[in-house]
Amino acid sequence: MVRMSDQTLLTGARVVTSDSQTTRADVLIEDGRIAAVGPGLAADGAQTVDLSGHVIAPGFIDVHVHGGGGHPLITTNADEIEAYARWAVSHGVTSFLATACTPTIDTALDCLAACANAGEAANGAALLGVNLEGPFVNPRRRGALPPSWPATPDVDTFRRLLDASGGRLRLMTVAPELPGAAEVIREALAAGVRVSVGHTDATYEVSRDAFAAGASHVTHAFNAMRPFHHREPGPLGAALEADGVTVEVIADGVHLHPATVRTLVRAFGAGRIALITDGVTPAGLSDGAFRIGDVEARLKDGEMRLPDGTIAGSVATMADVVRNVVRWNIADLATAVTMASATPARALGLGERKGRLAPGYDADLVALTEDLSVAATWVAGSLAYRA
Ligand SMILES: [Zn+2]
Repeated sequence: MVRMSDQTLLTGARVVTSDSQTTRADVLIEDGRIAAVGPGLAADGAQTVDLSGHVIAPGFIDVHVHGGGGHPLITTNADEIEAYARWAVSHGVTSFLATACTPTIDTALDCLAACANAGEAANGAALLGVNLEGPFVNPRRRGALPPSWPATPDVDTFRRLLDASGGRLRLMTVAPELPGAAEVIREALAAGVRVSVGHTDATYEVSRDAFAAGASHVTHAFNAMRPFHHREPGPLGAALEADGVTVEVIADGVHLHPATVRTLVRAFGAGRIALITDGVTPAGLSDGAFRIGDVEARLKDGEMRLPDGTIAGSVATMADVVRNVVRWNIADLATAVTMASATPARALGLGERKGRLAPGYDADLVALTEDLSVAATWVAGSLAYRA
């Protein structure tokens, strides 16, 4: 990334400020961080960028994404991860977790090694680490995960996966009802890996115990889990009662009905909803047939499906899901942005560094036009994308 100057001053825009409101303000960036936010800022020698007519928001953080723009994140080639990172900034993403689910544990070990070796992509979003979607998940709730991927929880296997990631494993989906899950959850938490309840048939009680034991996140609410039933409220009923637990929502209009997204936002509040894409490699491309791992999937009219009709991840971008919740009148822009930045940052334990437009925070920013398309993206203070 080219540094034009030590300081950059963004002027003339409305800014999504840390209290989730939009106000007219300037933003001063210095040494990769936000130095000041407020009206009428001046800085001698700063490079000034006029963003009149735009909204500046914290950059989007996608904690659950498998690829996009033709670039897979489930890969043994670290170059693919960097190519994804350079594409993602054009959709407002400034950081992400490479999310893996593979046909076998051995393939997962190779993919984790690629993530361990991936460097920072110049002009790309920052790879925050790895999200493992399994393997300790329930085969009955596997959704579009490869049939051979779900495995019985085993601490030794967990340790091999953790080691292969070179310490970059940040989040892992576990089905807490499986035998041995409690031990794996304990081991993961002790290693600093956050645990997400998902791909699960867990009852309310089993889920409640998992959250009490330290699981802090839920993998794509309603999708691939025991549904919410009035006599058996399942994982979502337990999550609602567990303070601070964050919940992934795929607001692509395919995985969840817009009214379901509205219900989730009203029930949990924006501070506990993490908008994700669950995006797959063809996200952002045109209709056609694609290989997802070992299987052929078809993208048609914004839906990615396996031959049997199972939804195979989304082709939405983070800019799409933010736009959707605004256009569906579920949230105003500032609140939508909170669900795409501050909440996912907090879900990863990065809430003191990322996800807000406030002094001291990383200068990960996106400038949006009036119609909420991405005009420019900065990663750590450097301009990474301009439309
Ligand atoms: Zn996924």
